[in-house]
Amino acid sequence: MVDPLDRSTIWPYADGEPGAFYYQRYGHPTGAAAEQALGELEGGTALLFPSGAGATTALALTLLKPGDTVALAAGAYFGTGRLLGALARWGINLLEFDQTGPPPERVQLVWVEAPGNPFLTMPDLEATAAHPALVVVDSTVATPIHLRPLEHGADFVLHSATKYLAGHDDVLLGAVVCREADAAARLRELRGTLGIVAAPDPCWLLLRSLKTLRIRVERQTETARGLARRLEAHPAVQVVRYPGFGGLLSFDVVDGAAARRVETATQLIMNATSLGGTHSVIESRYRWEGDRVPAGLLRLSVGLEDANALWADLEHALDQV
Ligand code: PLP
Repeated sequence: MVDPLDRSTIWPYADGEPGAFYYQRYGHPTGAAAEQALGELEGGTALLFPSGAGATTALALTLLKPGDTVALAAGAYFGTGRLLGALARWGINLLEFDQTGPPPERVQLVWVEAPGNPFLTMPDLEATAAHPALVVVDSTVATPIHLRPLEHGADFVLHSATKYLAGHDDVLLGAVVCREADAAARLRELRGTLGIVAAPDPCWLLLRSLKTLRIRVERQTETARGLARRLEAHPAVQVVRYPGFGGLLSFDVVDGAAARRVETATQLIMNATSLGGTHSVIESRYRWEGDRVPAGLLRLSVGLEDANALWADLEHALDQV
């Protein structure tokens, strides 16, 4: 009924031979069960990591070598650009491109985000799949409820499982889902060697959360669609960015001071970072991303609260503009 949680770091050999599990860094039953469940949702082989950034690091180190270039979606999660940019010291080049069109030629890896955080653009998955390089789709915001990137030609799906997959703002976790079993085996081996491994407790929380993923994401999508429509009609709102699905949207008010007034005036919606939880959160992204985003841009992650109560909270906050 309830999945077991095994915190062992060692398991006994059988007749002098290690079995499927022998030392936690190389694999553990709770992680394997969570990977099985996520793999079924995405249609590939899943591997878990202690954070989305950890998953990005492990995947980049598995796929890239000095002299390679990664084409990264411009306006993707700023931490991914920062992380891949830090690999310049190891001879990895980074090139940003507009993911709504085809990726640039002569790159060894294409990295897109579906949809991008916080601009909410969708990658041109057909043009991306036609590119000869390996393709990673960060599908954190879409979730397998709305998109299964491996069916669109992606080689790897990446998740900050901290967001919708775990979904309750109480787990830091990352995942990579691989199309090919031998790519998964290489990534698993490097994961064990590097030690970028998810512990049993967060894996158990993921297993629990996946049981409600569909119902959470469908409800968040329904509420977000309604809020996007209402925001579009509001005179204080200049732009609404919403891809038509999912629980994340962003919108612009006139400037940074107005954005600050809105984010500090909401009461039901928490002024906090992150996304994908049961509780709605809003924040100005300028504080983290600077001139990369408009000063008036607010990112809203829609939770499970009553839709009308959320709108009343937003309307009251927008009155402060
Ligand atoms: N990818 C996306 C789209 C994200 O939004 C984030 C975090 O915000 C990450 C990756 C990194 O994930 P984590 O914070 O779990 O390391």
